[in-house]
Amino acid sequence: MLDAGHGGKDPGNLGSGFREKDIALAIILKVGELLSKDKNIKVIYTRKKDVFVDLHERGAIANKADADLFVSVHCNSHHTQANGTETFVLGTKREETNFSVAKKENEVIFLEEDYEKNYEGYDPNNPESLIGLSLLMEDYLDQSILLASYVQDNFKNNLKLKSRGVKQEGFIVLHQTYMPSVLVETGFLTYKKEGKYLNSKKGQSDMASAIVDAILKYKSEVVADPIEVEEDPLDVPIETTDIYPEITFKVQIAAGSKLLETEPYNFKGLGEISMEKNENIYRYFYGSTSDYNKIKEKKREAIKKGYSTSFVIALKNGERVPLDKVLKTTSN
Ligand SMILES: [Zn+2]
Repeated sequence: MLDAGHGGKDPGNLGSGFREKDIALAIILKVGELLSKDKNIKVIYTRKKDVFVDLHERGAIANKADADLFVSVHCNSHHTQANGTETFVLGTKREETNFSVAKKENEVIFLEEDYEKNYEGYDPNNPESLIGLSLLMEDYLDQSILLASYVQDNFKNNLKLKSRGVKQEGFIVLHQTYMPSVLVETGFLTYKKEGKYLNSKKGQSDMASAIVDAILKYKSEVVADPIEVEEDPLDVPIETTDIYPEITFKVQIAAGSKLLETEPYNFKGLGEISMEKNENIYRYFYGSTSDYNKIKEKKREAIKKGYSTSFVIALKNGERVPLDKVLKTTSN
């Protein structure tokens, strides 16, 4: 799901005389064009033209389409000479800064009719109040951060652009989606050099390529492991083994900022739970085996218990390795 920020009566920011809504759309259309070359990817847009779309409508379109990924593209602005790229995921842990990007990007709701009704309880001056509207859905946080970090890596390493990093803030548009979601701030239009670059064909095509590369890398890591749920429940469990002696497979069932005891009562009755902490995110795993067939069985169990976003990860000497690479090597 590709989302070009703003549109129609909402121009976004107009830093240095450039127009955010036009730049965001140009980058998104380019991303879509490049992604469509992959036969396994279906691209959908929240807008393909210069039209106004409510923030909650954008999420609804993605949810209805049952999208696997939501990528929103914007341009930043500030009254100082602030510059650089940053990618956001939904979260509560806003860093102490002198300005909030989410507050600015959320302001568009004032242009929507019935915004008080659609975003009841939301205080535009306090983006974190968004989190109070419902329980924070953290199921997709880990995947969102993974994609966001690939986007920022590409900006920094391939395009040699300044990276302000991966950040968490309360964006309405990210709050509405039930899938891994990121919001890319491609640079500051108010910083003339960046505005000029983003307004150029080259800048737009550079940004699009960097985002597409990140999505494809993310896909090879996370979606290499498709969810196979439509199976006959009377099927006998797989009896054959498929051993990778150097590899430990686990099923990642959940991730979030909350530390939970690895006891069955915290995980819908599942035992054999292990945990790993990395950059303030706790990841929880079910099962541990070198047998790929056995771990697929575990994944099916986890999905049946309600962990619908479960996926298999592979570890070698305690380090995470891409599953698709492991499976390409010959087993036994
Ligand atoms: Zn914006």
